[in-house]
Order: sequence, then C-alpha cells, then structure tokens
Amino acid sequence: MQRMALHWQILVAMVLGAGCGLGLNATSGDRVTERPITHPAGTIQLVGMRRGVPVPAGEVWSLDTPERIFIQLRPQQQQIRRVVVGDIRLVERLRTAAAEPWPNVPAGQIARTVVPTLDALEQADPVAYALFQQHGRSWARRLGDWSQLAGDLFLRMLKMISIPLIVTSLLAGITGLGRAERLGKMFGRTLLYYLTTSLLAITVGLLCVNLLQPGAGGGAPAEELAGAGSGKGLAVVLFEQLHNMIPPNPFGALATGNFLSIIAFSLLLGIATILTGGTAAERLHALVDAAFQVMMQLTLGIIRLAPVGVFFLMLSVTATQGVGIFQTLGWYLVTVACALLVHAVIVLPLLLYFVAQRNPWQYARAMSPALLTAFSSASSNGTLPLTLTCVERRAGISNRVGSFVLPLGATVNMDGTALYEVVAVLFIAQITGHDLSLSQQVVVALTALLASIGAAGIPHAGLVMMVIILQAVGLPTESQGLIIAVDRVLDMGRTAVNVWSDSCGCAVISRWEARGERARSA
Ligand code: ASP
Repeated sequence: MQRMALHWQILVAMVLGAGCGLGLNATSGDRVTERPITHPAGTIQLVGMRRGVPVPAGEVWSLDTPERIFIQLRPQQQQIRRVVVGDIRLVERLRTAAAEPWPNVPAGQIARTVVPTLDALEQADPVAYALFQQHGRSWARRLGDWSQLAGDLFLRMLKMISIPLIVTSLLAGITGLGRAERLGKMFGRTLLYYLTTSLLAITVGLLCVNLLQPGAGGGAPAEELAGAGSGKGLAVVLFEQLHNMIPPNPFGALATGNFLSIIAFSLLLGIATILTGGTAAERLHALVDAAFQVMMQLTLGIIRLAPVGVFFLMLSVTATQGVGIFQTLGWYLVTVACALLVHAVIVLPLLLYFVAQRNPWQYARAMSPALLTAFSSASSNGTLPLTLTCVERRAGISNRVGSFVLPLGATVNMDGTALYEVVAVLFIAQITGHDLSLSQQVVVALTALLASIGAAGIPHAGLVMMVIILQAVGLPTESQGLIIAVDRVLDMGRTAVNVWSDSCGCAVISRWEARGERARSA
C-alpha cells in the first residue's frame, strides 16, 4: 500500500490530536465536587463557582469554566476554610485572611484565602495545594501534561538541527554562485527585487496582523518585554541589532546559538569565498554543499516525526485548554492566509503587470505545476527543478536569467516565509500578553527579513528560523509550541508564495536585462 504523503499524515495527526484532546477535555472535567476527600483534619472538597453559585455536584466542570474555584476544607464538619483560586480582583481585599491558620477558624465562620493562580496557592497554603494536586487534577489534565513533554521532544530536535542547517544552507547557496564575474549587474538587480518584494510582504503581514489582531484577548495581561527594544528609541534598537550581528568570536556565537551573528558571519564568509575564487573556493563550496546535503537529510528525517510531534502537541493543547485555543488559532490561520493571499494575488501581480509587463493570469497558469508542487511539498528546494522548467519552457524566460534568479531565490527570497514570520511573532506576542512597541515591530520586521534569507527551502524551515526573531525582541522561544500544530498547513501556503515570488522575479529581471541591453545597443 502506498504511504500517505507527509503533509496528509501531519494533517491527519493534527485532527486526531485535536479530536482526542477535545474529547478528553469535554468528558473529564475536574469532577472533584463529586468526591470529597477524607483527611485526618476533616473533609476537603473542590467547588466550582459559576456566577456566584456552586456548580451542582455531579455536573462536569473544567478548571477553566467556573468564575472561581474554591477548595473547601471542613475540619470536623464545623469550621470551613475556603481557598479561592483564580479571582484576581479580590486578592488585595482578602489577602490578610490568608494569614489565619485554618484549624483555628471559629466555628461557622468562613475564612477565605484568595489567590490568583495555583502557584500562588502553593505559596499561600501548601496543605491545600498538596491536596488539590493529588485530587483536583483530572486524568485528562495529567495526560495533557505528558503529551506536552512528548511534543517538546520534537521541538528540541528541530532546535538541535537549526544552527548547522542555517550555516550550511547559506554557505552552499552563496558559494554556489561561482566566479566573482557572475556577481555583476544581475546580482544587484536580483537582490533589489528580493529585498523589495520581501519588504512588501512583511508590510502586508504587519498590516494584517495589526488590523485583525488574531491573538488579542489571549488571556495574559499586557506586559512590557524585558528584551531588546523595550523603552528605547528605534536608532538605539537598530544599533543594538547591528552590534549583535558582529560576533567578536564566531565560534562563541555558534556555541551560544546567536542566530543573527551566525547568519551575518556566514554571509560574509560566503562572499569572501566567491571573491577568493580558484581552487580554494571550489573546495570550500564542495565541502559546504556536501555538509548541506547531509543536514537536509537529517532535517527531513526529523520532519518525518512531525505527525507524532504534532499529534502530542495538539493533544496537550486541547486536553488542557479546550476549544478556546482553537478559536484563537483559527483566527491566526485566517490572518496568515489573508496576508499571503493579498501578497500573491494583488502585490506580486501588480509588479508583474507594471514592471515586467506580463499578463499575471497567463504567467500564473504557466507556473501552475511548480506552484502546486510547492504547495503540496512545502519545499522550495524540492520544487526547484520544476520551477526552472516552467519558467523556461512555459513562461519563455531565458535560461541565463532562470538559472541565476531561481536557485538563489529558493534560499534567499522567501516572501511567504518573511510575511508568516511577522504575523506569527506578533500573534505570539499578542497571545502571551506582550505589548510590542512600534520600534520593536520594526525589529521584528528586519529580523524577519534576515530569518527569511537564512531559512532553507525545506519544510518547516521558517518555524525553525523564528527563534531569531523571538530572541531579538525577548519573547520566550518556547512559545513557538503554541503555533507548531498549524505550521504545516501554513507552510504549504507560504512555500507556494515563495516560489511564486521567485518566478515573478525571473519575469521582472528578464525585463530589466532586456531594457539594459537595448539601452547599451542604442
Ligand atoms: N517551506 C518553506 C520553503 O521551502 C520555508 C519555510 O518553512 O517557510 O520555501
């Protein structure tokens, strides 16, 4: 029997994980109201309060649904101590009551300790917390915690491969350009095109994520970031980024995983190699190319585990958080999809029409085999042979332009990835309650550009590269776990946009070259 394609496997795993998690979440809330715990000191019960009324015994409720959660302790059936979890407004008013040791509460009187989180409960009342831990957590929640650990293993593997992959991919791409003479006018024009379209894509992404606010109301209260950029002027922030890009010790940068320094050094090393030329450059190219292929192999191996990783991550999110996270992720999916559509259907066709003077519809039809392959494979590199063939055979672009613009574009020009990075990082900031100032958003935009340049044309490379941006603005890198579950679907869309932008680049550069030639011969 033929094996299902990887993207279908991941999609199935995602749906399965979500289905199982939601099922668990719906059927096994924390039913502690049904089972009071007998303790030497008395009876202990967890009570959910909804609109001021205790949730009736026997009704399934989750820790997220009630307004407040009381841990009700009834020593000798006389005195009642209630510990309220989750009501922040009352914290200050009732904090003093927390000091009262519960066995001494006078008969018939209710003493209350109000704590905002379970961690605070642990501080305020270790006995109640221990009991709560033993009896208050449903098996769905415990299963959710275990699947989180299993999903994290997959995330760790992705992190493990990211640095070697970036270094070899960048060096192989640049040194593959060959002799320095090839870096002539066409290189300048190509870079201009790459830069312009990537910045346009980033702008579209920023506009969409700020307009649609997919992570707004994610729960956590707005917080200032401790990382780069908070409370500083744009010039200072940019200078700091520049400063970060120059590693005093490149090996140190590799060891500490400073992505910006690593990319900058690899770019410079690649350019210096081309300028050196000769056998030294040839040998170095052969070496990095071989290393890149091995890294690709390793990455692809890790990505085969994606269905398992996604299953567990999805399960853990839905088992512990319920449908709420889906509603938020759904809006995030819509935002990325809208932004990708605007760039692919409006921005790039306008460039094609006005700059390359091509009919966008006909050009898209000519490129459709490559675009569909890019969509289903989520790999610009994998699609490259098809893109080259379509550009030359179906769209009538010369081999000279195609063979220069496309291979470099497959690694360097990633409009879809750049756009996706800004939407994803801003979504993470919104949902984790971090306010990103304008200057921090500029840092996100610029680092997203670098991340898209550094990303290899393989599945999920964009996700791996996102660490750079999260690092640059001081967001927790683990927060990537929030969006990994839907990454494959988005990867398919952004890869198609990446290949579409490379293809449009061929038409634009071909036009510029022809105009340059005409000007020279006139
Ligand atoms: N999969 C994308 C590509 O091959 C890169 C990414 O993950 O964004 O173009």
